[in-house]
Amino acid sequence: MSSPRRVAVVGAGLAAVSTCDALRAQGYDGELVLYSDERGLPYDRPPLSKDVLLGKSGRHDILLRPEQWYEGQRVDLRDGTPVRAIRPRESGIELADGSVVGADRVVLATGGTPRPLPVPGGDDPAVRVLRTWEDAERLRERLLPDARVTVVGAGLIGAETAAVAVALGCRVTLVDPVPVPLAAVVGAGVARALHSRHTAEGIEVITSGVERVERRPAADEVLVHLAGGSKVVAADTVVAGIGIRPATGLAEAAGLRVDNGVVVDAGQHTSHSNVLAVGDVARLDGHRVRHEHWEAAQQSGEAAAGGILGRPLQQAGAPWFWSDRHGSRLEAVGTMADAERTVVRGAPDSGAFTVFGLRGDRLVAAAAIDRARDIKTARRLVDRSVAVDPARLADEGVDLRTLLKR
Ligand SMILES: Cc1cc2nc3c(=O)[nH]c(=O)nc-3n(C[C@H](O)[C@H](O)[C@H](O)COP(=O)(O)OP(=O)(O)OC[C@H]3O[C@@H](n4cnc5c(N)ncnc54)[C@H](O)[C@@H]3O)c2cc1C
Repeated sequence: MSSPRRVAVVGAGLAAVSTCDALRAQGYDGELVLYSDERGLPYDRPPLSKDVLLGKSGRHDILLRPEQWYEGQRVDLRDGTPVRAIRPRESGIELADGSVVGADRVVLATGGTPRPLPVPGGDDPAVRVLRTWEDAERLRERLLPDARVTVVGAGLIGAETAAVAVALGCRVTLVDPVPVPLAAVVGAGVARALHSRHTAEGIEVITSGVERVERRPAADEVLVHLAGGSKVVAADTVVAGIGIRPATGLAEAAGLRVDNGVVVDAGQHTSHSNVLAVGDVARLDGHRVRHEHWEAAQQSGEAAAGGILGRPLQQAGAPWFWSDRHGSRLEAVGTMADAERTVVRGAPDSGAFTVFGLRGDRLVAAAAIDRARDIKTARRLVDRSVAVDPARLADEGVDLRTLLKR
């Protein structure tokens, strides 16, 4: 396969920057243009719901790469330049000003946009979301001591936002229709422990859906009407954290295969061989879910570079992610939904413990609170598909690394 002369990357988040980095690392010498509809240098998103909201990190602290990297790597960053269409058949892309630019390969790295609350008033700008630097900046200004903050959605970003808000002295209400959010992702034991921490830290946790949202401009407040008229929660600030929609518009308009994300093969190729997709917007064919996590975005960029240059495919490891809340770190690896049974290591009452998910005698997943070492070994056990003895997994006296040697 001949190396392309110009690669255009649409979007400039982690997956895009990782693609550029890997292309250069793998010897690509042609033109590399990165189009971003945001302004400024590309930045990392996980700190937005952590140190940025806490006021501990500024924009400069969270840059994905320093400014000189773009020049050094000959990555032509066009910030504030949205791509309006991709034209795979004509080997080009169309910018918002109507100009058409040639590109032998196009990498879609458009990420996702927060889902608005699907209820009347749910799309009111008074209902804030957290995806961009600007979102975080505007939200931070509202998280003042004693402010009434209602977070709808107790998944990863909603829970982190609620935890930061309570740490900043806000009066926080967390609303979710599911009694134990994240149970499908990290298992019921870890999910229960995580969720109960909110109440212990002073957050009012309400298990309910939301019926509608009503803005009261005169009082500068928002009323959140809970399902069935059960309660009305008045808030100075409402944040919705109910997940994202993959930004598939360009792919759909170009006639690419889209089904809960732009469908890609292991080399990140879409249904058109000159177009690839990476990061949150892409879904690997044959997999039910998109992995909307940091490491998956980074690795998909590396895979895309290999795909563009025709390198042999690397075997992808099990998906991994982390999340920080109330001073604790959650980490999870693999797919808990694939597990037939679980084994606990450590004492849940202590707050730090690990749950392993097994299918037959193989480890398929693990989730832990504040037990990084367990997860490090669990990743290797999952990736190598080693047969494990459940009793030894549970036994704190057994060094987990010895299980790798069986
Ligand atoms: C607040 C927050 C906290 C997170 N915390 C964690 C965590 O603790 N652990 C973890 O594992 N993961 C976390 N994640 C997830 C992780 O950050 C994402 O999976 C990752 O950023 C996805 O990268 P991406 O490049 O695919 O998409 P994005 O980072 O969304 O980048 C896509 C970019 O493309 C741009 N774009 C879209 N359309 C166009 C267009 N037409 N033209 C030009 N540009 C366009 C977008 O504006 C955006 O800048 C978090 C995410 C958020 C938002």
